Amino acid sequence: MRRSSLLTSFVFVALLITFATNASAQTPGVFEVRFNDSALTSQQRTELAPTLAATKSFWETIITGYQPGVDLDGIDIIVEAAAIDGPSNVLAQAGPGGFSVTRGGFTFLTDNQFNSSAGVVTIDTADFSTNLIFDVLKHEVGHVLGFGTLFDLNSLSPNRGEYIGSEGVAAYQAEYDSAALFVPLQNETFPGGIQVFNGHLDEDNLLTDAFGRAIRNDLMSPVVSNTTNANDPFQNFLSDTSLGIFRDLGYETIATTFVVPPPVLGDANLDGAVTFLDIAPFIGFLTTGEFLIQADCNEDGVVNFLDIAPFITFLTGN
Ligand SMILES: [Zn+2]
Repeated sequence: MRRSSLLTSFVFVALLITFATNASAQTPGVFEVRFNDSALTSQQRTELAPTLAATKSFWETIITGYQPGVDLDGIDIIVEAAAIDGPSNVLAQAGPGGFSVTRGGFTFLTDNQFNSSAGVVTIDTADFSTNLIFDVLKHEVGHVLGFGTLFDLNSLSPNRGEYIGSEGVAAYQAEYDSAALFVPLQNETFPGGIQVFNGHLDEDNLLTDAFGRAIRNDLMSPVVSNTTNANDPFQNFLSDTSLGIFRDLGYETIATTFVVPPPVLGDANLDGAVTFLDIAPFIGFLTTGEFLIQADCNEDGVVNFLDIAPFITFLTGN
């Protein structure tokens, strides 16, 4: 069962944000996340500090800099707490804010010195201590960076439910749908006729990639789920599609978040486990002497009769 909570995003276009840190020059072109938590109570600051540090580290690992021509020096994010809608449902909301500037063909919202992008994350006071807070903050910072919030200013989603930025679409074609003309975005009508669209990936998109990662479980889908579910290790992963979208927004990113799992010794048919189905292919490697790291059960660099005993051990589990 998915533990789910809706998240929202807003753009604070006219919001004036001033940071004391602006007095000291940062380095143009170097991406850095700087949180300002001075609006929190001292108890909230203490509670949130490790999560803010982890969120900063997460995004500074994902985003490695800017596209050519963008000389911003990172992003300043105010973190505040306010009553939104009580426990669960909306856990937080966030968006960029400030003055619109265009650099290198990309539009950002910046502080009043026009050198750092800026925004706000507002955590629902009633959900401040949720066990999802790290995922919530990662997601909300994604909005402050522009996911779903700067698409319009950058002409990336002219139609409802359709993301057309070139890097995002190319990554989506490679990962999920080679025939896709756009990345499907959220496009929903809620009770009362409230229309919500283009802020997230599409939660109703059931496609999975070659590694079994469902795009609806991407960090930038509208529903955030509990990452401690051992049956679903890809909850809240960041797809290559989302990375492409951040490149379309003017950032440089790592190529992928997917880490190849270590080989399972004895898994001669490469299905991730050692079972009787591995016996025939294992014998095949023994017979031909062809090397496969999974068949080299004693890890001596060759596949031969010395691998038989450890293979049986892996197969029988003792
Ligand atoms: Zn959101």
